[in-house]
Amino acid sequence: MEPFGLQWIQKWWREPLESADSSLAEATVDRADVPQSTLIIKNVRLAHTDNAMAEQLWTVECRGKKVKQVSLSDGSNDVPLPEFDAKGSLLLPSLCHSHIHLDKCFILDRCKFLSLPRDFTEAMKVTARAKQDFRYDPDDLLRRGRRLVRESIECGVTSMRAHVEVDSIVGLSSLAAAVRLRNEFKTACNVQIAVFAQEPLFDFVADTTPGSNYRFLKQALEDPEVEAIGSAPYVEANIDQAKKNITLILELAAQMGLHADFHLDYNVDPNTEPLIWEVIREAKRIGGWLPIDNESYRGITIGHATRLQLFTPDQWQELQQAIGKLPITLVGLPNSDLYMQGRRDMDKPLGPPRSTLRVPYIARKYDLQIAMSVNNIENAFTPQGSVDPLALCTLGVALFQSATPGDIRTLIRSVTLTSKRALGIAPSDLPQGLFPQKGDPADFVIIHETQTLYQAVLNPSHDRTTIRGGAVVARRLTKRWITCSQSLVAVLPWYRRVKLSYMLFPPLFLYKFLISGGVPVFMHFETSLEIVFKAIDSTALPQPYESDAS
Ligand SMILES: [Zn+2]
Repeated sequence: MEPFGLQWIQKWWREPLESADSSLAEATVDRADVPQSTLIIKNVRLAHTDNAMAEQLWTVECRGKKVKQVSLSDGSNDVPLPEFDAKGSLLLPSLCHSHIHLDKCFILDRCKFLSLPRDFTEAMKVTARAKQDFRYDPDDLLRRGRRLVRESIECGVTSMRAHVEVDSIVGLSSLAAAVRLRNEFKTACNVQIAVFAQEPLFDFVADTTPGSNYRFLKQALEDPEVEAIGSAPYVEANIDQAKKNITLILELAAQMGLHADFHLDYNVDPNTEPLIWEVIREAKRIGGWLPIDNESYRGITIGHATRLQLFTPDQWQELQQAIGKLPITLVGLPNSDLYMQGRRDMDKPLGPPRSTLRVPYIARKYDLQIAMSVNNIENAFTPQGSVDPLALCTLGVALFQSATPGDIRTLIRSVTLTSKRALGIAPSDLPQGLFPQKGDPADFVIIHETQTLYQAVLNPSHDRTTIRGGAVVARRLTKRWITCSQSLVAVLPWYRRVKLSYMLFPPLFLYKFLISGGVPVFMHFETSLEIVFKAIDSTALPQPYESDAS
């Protein structure tokens, strides 16, 4: 451990280097704690369809939690608080996870599945084993969930449907962690809790009444923080139980006034019966659903649904008509779909047949609500991928062969507006489009060093600023380094002498002590020396030269 005095000197030494970004850093911290009533975002680019408007710089004025005004920027970069300068970067509606698992994230290390034969059944088995520890280690649940929510907010996510499993293995432990995280992050993110039955609702193959997992699910619904209920009917032992699973979930959703969320039709097997028809049939029978443009509708979301990709155009038309005014949103989960499917055909020369919902095509051709989401992070169902919803858009360009302006906008909508609709957010709390308009919620992500919607999809920057309710709630910056040129080696002998004499010259330190906040010229001199020292050090060792990229 370093002595206190040395730590203090190091902190003091670094101040000039970090000052370049200090105003924004202070703004970020302050606003996360105390949301401001006004925020003026200057010099942003907006996702207008008109090229000339998309190239211009705009000022977005937020009052309270809404957009008060959007106007052309005056070119000023004078940004006293509560304003800040986006420096020409693109502003979009904030991102949304319409489907993500909060409790079984970051458990790859304990699944030990990489050396085993892998398929969905195997993934279920190793995950169930890992889940056995959840109820005995609530801190672990919180730690992993916290990391998922925090990293999501840093990407630009301000709302998510967080699935937490409730069954005889984990009890209500995942739900308890989710409730705590929901409250912990309520300033920065709306964590909507969906209790989810990943395990079968029926204990035995011949059962006609649901078993212990169903009882846990009902018990979980007594928690007022729960807003959605979900299941995976395909895990049941037979088709009859799968259909009863759908009915039970829809009935509970109707009784408790909740959204329903199914993992459904997760295969590309033409011989299986698509259960989406059962969902539609039962939803209509039970009734009480309002159209998706109603202020207080309860939604039905259907995740995966890869079997639908085998539909003929006529079947798609039939589906579109059957859905009608039902508030159904399809949610493509490409990271999981591509990883998990078709394992029994691994040895075929072309690889396993796989599919995922073709988001731009389905939206364009059949005008259905279709979102896209991350689903899992670092577990046996999906070991790869980050929490960044924009990464799905990048993947989607290749996957769907979609790079037309219209498809690019659909991809972005699928991880912003349509995903928020899938959460059941009231239309009055949704943005009207991909560029802000008066009255929109002031929930944004600024993608730094990115000027166009194309760039945001094709190669989005890592650097983001997240705004929720008219307040900056997170900022993510890249730390970069690059090895310096070897030419500096020539000045090493000189450098060592100067550095030694400088470091051993006590009056300079004394001067800093006595004149705190002192002479700017001296500060610049110090900063310059520090940069030179670091650069030459990096050449000599060799080690990287580090700098903060703003
Ligand atoms: Zn899922």
